[in-house]
Amino acid sequence: MRFDVVTIFPEYLEPLSVSLVGKARARGQLDIRVHDLRRWTHDRHHTVDDTPYGGGPGMVMKPEPWGEALDAIIAPGSAATADGEAAPEQPTLIVPTPSGRPFTQALAVELSTRPWLVFTPARYEGIDRRVIDEYRERPEVHEVHELSIGDYVLAGGEAAVLVMAEAIARLLPGVLGNAASHQDDSFAPGEMAHLLEGPVYTKPPQWRGRGIPEVLLSGHHGRIARWRRDEAFRRTTRNRPELIEQADPEEFDQHDRKILAELGWDVSEATGRFGRPTPDVEE
Ligand code: SAM
Repeated sequence: MRFDVVTIFPEYLEPLSVSLVGKARARGQLDIRVHDLRRWTHDRHHTVDDTPYGGGPGMVMKPEPWGEALDAIIAPGSAATADGEAAPEQPTLIVPTPSGRPFTQALAVELSTRPWLVFTPARYEGIDRRVIDEYRERPEVHEVHELSIGDYVLAGGEAAVLVMAEAIARLLPGVLGNAASHQDDSFAPGEMAHLLEGPVYTKPPQWRGRGIPEVLLSGHHGRIARWRRDEAFRRTTRNRPELIEQADPEEFDQHDRKILAELGWDVSEATGRFGRPTPDVEE
């Protein structure tokens, strides 16, 4: 898989050389290319921003350097792709922005199947809109995703790229030591799609007077799996109740429903979905 990142702070992406992503890169499984946007400026000051049309505070990233950079990177046989290997076909553009759709685990799974992702982390007030509109219409681009990593505003998109790149790269076959480990993760499509993973424990069996749940020592795989799922329900109803509310009740088996009932949850007649317990109202 190939990642290209265009940024005015190439050094910000250095963490992509460490840990699991760095190892996948060293093995040649991930080809990560970081490009300095200023390389595609032509004035003495390497200007990448200008004042916004319509006025207002802040600066906007100019379209010309972005257009030249993206053309050079995605063009078949271009200098940026010419180190011996042909570019994989059809890049998917990832535009980090707080005004994008939420980046989720389901999307990470989907994007991990693409051969080539091009990330465009911005600074200032973002990139001139025409750049995104231009590449949405380009036949050589597979798709353009405008994505947010959360409901807060960062100073720039580089940290968002680190987040998305790691979430996607760890799903590639062979990147995690145990291929099955991401299937039990919180939000993993399938049985965990609407659940957060419950608590985890390791040795020693006693630490500062605290033991571990008996069932985890039982060696009984069925009971352990059930306990883990119950704990996932407990944690999700506490920390992210909206995930349960959004789930199709068909996804829950009888025991799941029993646990939800114990936690005070019931299927709402109005929505047909599980609803959180109504707080007791004092007379
Ligand atoms: N004025 C913009 C707004 O309110 O939507 C915020 C611009 S922000 C200061 C600069 C850049 O940081 C964005 O263009 C984007 O690349 C990145 N960024 C900031 N917050 C982000 C988030 N939550 N998710 C993804 N990227 C983000």
